[in-house]
Amino acid sequence: MSTAAKAIRQPSQSMVNGFDPARLNELPEPLQKNIRRRDRSLGPGYRLFYDEPLEIVRGKGVTLFDRDGNEYLDVYNNVPSVGHSHPRVIEAVHQQMQTLNTNTRYIQEPILEYSEQLLSTFPAELGHVMFTCTGSEANDLAMRVAKYVTGNQGIIVTAGAYHGLTAEVSSFSPSLGVGVPLGPNVRVIDAPDALRYSSDTVSLEDHLREQVRSAIADLHRHGIGVAAFIADSIFSSDGVYAGPTGFLRPIVEEIHAAGGLYIADEVQPGFGRTGEEWWGFQRHGIIPDIVTIGKPMGNGIPVAAAIFKPELLVDFGKNIRYFNTFGGNSVAIAAAQAVLDVIREEALLPNALEVGNKIVSELKAFSQDVEQVAEVRGSGLFIGVDLVTDRSTLSPNGSAATEIVNSLRRDRILISACGAQGNVLKLRPPMPFSSNDADRLLEGMEKAFTTLR
Ligand code: PMP
Repeated sequence: MSTAAKAIRQPSQSMVNGFDPARLNELPEPLQKNIRRRDRSLGPGYRLFYDEPLEIVRGKGVTLFDRDGNEYLDVYNNVPSVGHSHPRVIEAVHQQMQTLNTNTRYIQEPILEYSEQLLSTFPAELGHVMFTCTGSEANDLAMRVAKYVTGNQGIIVTAGAYHGLTAEVSSFSPSLGVGVPLGPNVRVIDAPDALRYSSDTVSLEDHLREQVRSAIADLHRHGIGVAAFIADSIFSSDGVYAGPTGFLRPIVEEIHAAGGLYIADEVQPGFGRTGEEWWGFQRHGIIPDIVTIGKPMGNGIPVAAAIFKPELLVDFGKNIRYFNTFGGNSVAIAAAQAVLDVIREEALLPNALEVGNKIVSELKAFSQDVEQVAEVRGSGLFIGVDLVTDRSTLSPNGSAATEIVNSLRRDRILISACGAQGNVLKLRPPMPFSSNDADRLLEGMEKAFTTLR
């Protein structure tokens, strides 16, 4: 196996800062009661955020409310992209629910209108959209098409990637950890960790190109051709790697040279969150063959999609039937249309850029002398703070991240952590996050950081 393919797989770190059931007895009685109830009916497969889990009853804008009426600043949830309980989305869903809710096998003008508007946000090469309910389904469909078109099975992903929950998609989601085996057709390359990558002779871009080459060679050695390279354009679960922009280009060149496709997973960065453009891949100046979108698309109403270069669907469309019962139903489309309208009318892209830049620059300023903060990075309202044991070794510090996440939660500011060791604080609020909201967040973080000194 290539070095890339041998990348060490960690246990799943996705809930590193989650609730530890062994500490149930330390919680207030009403919370204990509902956690026990939850365990009885939902079973052991679910997790809860934070040392002290939250019982949320209401959301408005960037604020969540618990059952006692306490307010929490939401710096985590990207799904309610235009803000919790946005009146435009509520009204659109309500109206549509009263009118019609059916599937894509009927002509419905609102679906046509939405599809045209959505496609107009993409480069002209991407011309067809197919609707699903979840990002996982979108990635499943994207990979099905990639395998069909190329006639190959091989998949290349980054070391900490998450692409979804179906059996197929989890087989190329290394962040799920050792308990969820990667497929024999899957090869892994390093996350584009510019902070820790160091070489006097080989640039990060060339290093990634070399990794992809050896992954492709290894697939070929096993008689497997390349179907696709798939990557989250902001590398969220890998640890938020927004730059240097351009590092994706050599990877895509190598994939295309090997006859494979490039799938941009925009489930997290998409719909303007990165501030500069509608889609994260645009920051890298490349055009994907397929793009998948989801989470923020319907502000919480389940709707997702895969966008294709039309030539990829010619034979697939002729020979394969695809029907998704709920995917792109009338109500989902109404919600998605309202989201698109609000993003434009409330100028949420420039807001993401402006407020995101402010957060990054102020975080950088006050963490300058905090030894455990190695880097503040991101784009727009997708920000990572990389915590280390010390700046000389850059050794990831997951426990510091857990501490900060829980200390902010006690201060009623909700964030999360990501990265292979759970050491990268993840700031990813609903997009109407204002400059005042940023001030509250920054004040809270400055206070939380003092516990690290
Ligand atoms: N891709 C990425 C990058 C994601 O973050 C997620 C969800 N966390 C998915 C795909 C899967 O989306 P869903 O949960 O809607 O199936």
